[in-house]
Amino acid sequence: MSRRRRAFTLVELLVVIGIIAILIAILLPALNKAREHSRRTRCMSNMRQLTIAWLLYIESNKGKLPGSNTDVNAHPHDWVDAGDGIDALKRGTLWPYVNNWEAYWCPNDRIHYMRTYSMNSWLDGEGPAPVATRLSQLKFPTSTFVFIEEMDPRGYLINSFMVLPYPSAEWVDIPAPMHDRVGLLAFADGHAQQWIWTNPSTWQRTGFNQSVPKTDDLKDLQGWRGSGPWPPGRVP
Ligand SMILES: [Zn+2]
Repeated sequence: MSRRRRAFTLVELLVVIGIIAILIAILLPALNKAREHSRRTRCMSNMRQLTIAWLLYIESNKGKLPGSNTDVNAHPHDWVDAGDGIDALKRGTLWPYVNNWEAYWCPNDRIHYMRTYSMNSWLDGEGPAPVATRLSQLKFPTSTFVFIEEMDPRGYLINSFMVLPYPSAEWVDIPAPMHDRVGLLAFADGHAQQWIWTNPSTWQRTGFNQSVPKTDDLKDLQGWRGSGPWPPGRVP
């Protein structure tokens, strides 16, 4: 008995290729979305780890905050030192509490070498008069941000994240666009949250100290810099 092997015709092959292409087109956006969701979750977990380290430092130092600036020569209690190497992290006061460099870095960060997160400058930092140098001075820790993802046009992060008080319309520093329009922030009570920025000028600037036409996003941060008004969000 003879058996003839049946081969695919060209049309059948093209149909199969077409179906595969359609499946890829349908699945790819979902796959990318799932990947971004996972990176965002890791990023928030990093920020929570750093905030827990911040709280542990405070507990070990009788309520005193770590410095939010990045110059351990001038302020030995600063949380990290300036520089784009791992040594800059190791010289910081938070390193004993979170000694894993990946916790300082957003998984989406393709810009900075070593660190993505900056600390609120009003928490014992470079501001003219800090809102707080001790945890007990914070009236509403749930509404005071400690960490934010920052974009630094110099290529790596230096100093802290400065937000001028309301009603200033000037942005000093730039929230990083690591997750498109979603900004991630961690607060003094230890929680981290996502916040959707409303104005592209918030994260599309390329320089420091710029005024923007709409300042709703700035108002949000002004409400969270540590001196109210509370509850958080937009200043009326
Ligand atoms: Zn991130």
